[in-house]
Amino acid sequence: MKHIPLLILTLCIAPFSAHAQESDVKIIQVKNNIHVLISPQGGNVVTSTGEDGTFIIDDQLAGRSALIKAAAKSINDQDIKFVLNTHYHFDHTGGNEFFGEENAIIVAHDSVRERLSTKQFITYFKKEMPPLSKTGLPVVTFSKDMTFHHNGNDIKVVHVPHAHTDGDVVAYFVNENVIVAGDTIFNGMYPFIDTEHGGSIAGLIAAHDTLLALANDETIIVPGHGSLMNKAELKSYQQALATIAKNIEKAIKDGKTLEQTIAAKPTQEFDEKMSEGIVGPDAFTTILYNHLSQ
Ligand SMILES: [Zn+2]
Repeated sequence: MKHIPLLILTLCIAPFSAHAQESDVKIIQVKNNIHVLISPQGGNVVTSTGEDGTFIIDDQLAGRSALIKAAAKSINDQDIKFVLNTHYHFDHTGGNEFFGEENAIIVAHDSVRERLSTKQFITYFKKEMPPLSKTGLPVVTFSKDMTFHHNGNDIKVVHVPHAHTDGDVVAYFVNENVIVAGDTIFNGMYPFIDTEHGGSIAGLIAAHDTLLALANDETIIVPGHGSLMNKAELKSYQQALATIAKNIEKAIKDGKTLEQTIAAKPTQEFDEKMSEGIVGPDAFTTILYNHLSQ
């Protein structure tokens, strides 16, 4: 009889050891066979699933690939065939080596492969990104645009120059009317703009124009961080950034120092709606002030 509790204990532990990491990944259906995997940390991952194999857009932070794979497999058990990187940042490409190892074909803008092949340092996050091994590098790269025909989806992928970085792409699922914006949008947050690696506020606003031209009132937009949004919400997000940039440009023109510009609170009217993220109002002001005064 003494053995029975031990047996029960063993049975209880077994499922946990099989899934060492408990999943914090939320799976939300965007439309038809398109889902978004949203996590409390790292960027959003979009999946297209079906008989042609799973196609994912971005692959999160390193060390979370098993969770992402399990979430994708819970939608459809097919292997991951394609990974599209929207840009080079570690919270969107961290799974590249894992999925490359599993024979996924990694696709990205030319600049993303260049950056992932060499050491990158992002001063704002004090983050060094060592070069990826060959298995983690994009094997198909492009400079302007390309279209995938996969799982019944026509997925147009377009490079938006000098936006969040110098290698951003956005994806448009034509038949489903779904836009994947990558980090050209941080919904409900001030965006990080990687000005050190080719990002710019003018390019970011131009990228929003590209998305707005693709969208209609029914379009569902998946940002790189935060929850799903519609065209009207993107429009007000773009207007908020444009207004703040104008306020800061004026401060620079008036000869204000960074400290004086921060004290004048150029973001104030938007702080309540946009302060959820890692870039606070003062940090965003600092990024734009340094960028626009160059
Ligand atoms: Zn990013």
